[in-house]
Amino acid sequence: MDEAPVGRGKVKVESRKSVRRSRSVFCQRSGLSAKGGQQNNMAGIYVHIPFCKTRCAYCAFFSTTALPMRSRYVTALIKEYALRSDYLPKDETVRTIYLGGGTPSQISKSDLARLLQALPVKQAEEITIEANPSDITARRLRAWREMGINRLSMGIQSFNDATLSFLHRRHNSRRAKTAIRMAQEAGFSNISIDLMYALPGQTYEQWQTDIETALSMGVQHISSYCLSIEPGTALWRQRVKGRVQDADDDLANEMYACLRQRLQDAGYTHYEVSNFALPGYVSKHNSSYWDGTLYLGLGAGAHSYNGTSRQWNVANLPKYLSSIHDGKVPCKREMLTVTDRYNEQVMLGLRTCQGIAATDELMHKAQPYIHSGKLRLTNGQLIATQEGINILNTIITDLMRE
Ligand code: SF4
Repeated sequence: MDEAPVGRGKVKVESRKSVRRSRSVFCQRSGLSAKGGQQNNMAGIYVHIPFCKTRCAYCAFFSTTALPMRSRYVTALIKEYALRSDYLPKDETVRTIYLGGGTPSQISKSDLARLLQALPVKQAEEITIEANPSDITARRLRAWREMGINRLSMGIQSFNDATLSFLHRRHNSRRAKTAIRMAQEAGFSNISIDLMYALPGQTYEQWQTDIETALSMGVQHISSYCLSIEPGTALWRQRVKGRVQDADDDLANEMYACLRQRLQDAGYTHYEVSNFALPGYVSKHNSSYWDGTLYLGLGAGAHSYNGTSRQWNVANLPKYLSSIHDGKVPCKREMLTVTDRYNEQVMLGLRTCQGIAATDELMHKAQPYIHSGKLRLTNGQLIATQEGINILNTIITDLMRE
C-alpha cells in the first residue's frame, strides 16, 4: 500500500491459534458472511504488486525492491488472469478491482494500462490503487483517472516527520499533504488514507495531531492500524537489541478510543475495527471480504476464495514468474471445512459494526461477554462494544468452534 497484506486489500485470515491482538497491523480479510454466508453474485479481483522502492521498518508484507522485474511481472499477471479465467463462476459480476502491494504506484503508466486492459474494468464499480505519497504526480493521477481508477488509497501512516522517518517511510508530512491535495485537485473524490498508532515513542498528543490533520484534509475514508512488531522486520531487530519497545497497551487503547470518538464526531462511520468512512464511502472491496463475496487474487502471494476453498499463490517472485511462464499457477489450496467457515464468520463478523447473527450456539458462549458489556445484542446481531473491541481476539477465540 503501500500498505496491504498479501492477498486481498487488507484482510488476513487468522486461525484460532494465531488470533492475537485485536487491532494489529495487517489484520483483516476473509470471506464468509456475517449474515449467514449467502453469496451475492458479485466478485472482486485483487492484484498484488509486490514492488517497493525501499522497505519500511515495520513491513512484514511480501514485497521486493527488485524494480527491474516490474514489466515482466505485469506480463505474468495478465497471463495468470487468462490461465484462471474460469476461477470465478460465469454469473459473477466483478464489482471491485483492487491494486494492492507493495507499491502499485511504482508501476509505469504503460504497464498499468495494459494490466487494466486485460481486466474487466468496465464491470467494476470501484477500482482502487494503493499509492505512496512520494509517487503522486499530476501526470500519474490523470493517467489513473483515464484508466478508470476511481479510488485512491494512500499509505500516509503519520503527519509527523520524526515518526515517518522512524518508520523509514519515503515521504514527509508536507509531501503527504501535497499528495492528498493533488489527488483531490485531479478529481479523485474517493480517497482513503492509512494511519498508524501505538508506535514506539509516539505520544497521545502526537496521535491527536495526526487525527486532526487527517480530518482537516477532507478524505472520505481512513484506515488505522495499531502497530504490531512482526518477526523479520527492521523494528523487530531493533526491539531484540533493546532499542525500541512496544507501546503500552493502555496507551494503545486510549489512542484507539480517541480515534473512534473523534472520527465518529466528524461524521465517519466506524464500519470495521480498523476502518472509518464518510457516508457512501465504505470500501466496497474490503467489505466484500467480510460479507462472503468471491474474489480472485492475482500475483505472487495473492489469495483467492471461491466459496468452498481458499488458495494462495507462492510468495516468491522468481518462482511465480517461472511457473506462470510455463503455464502453471503456482498455488496451494485449502478446502474449507464447516468449522473453518463458521470460525471465519465469527471472526470477520465481529470485526464489523453489523456484528454477526446471534445463533443459539453463539449466544451460549457469548453470555459472559454480554453481561460484562463487551458484546451487545441488537436486532438479533451480536456486536462488539468499544470495551469488547479492546479484547476482540480473546472474544473471537472463545466464540470459535474447536
Ligand atoms: S515496504 Fe513499505 S511501502 Fe512497501 S509494502 Fe511494506 S509498508 Fe508498504
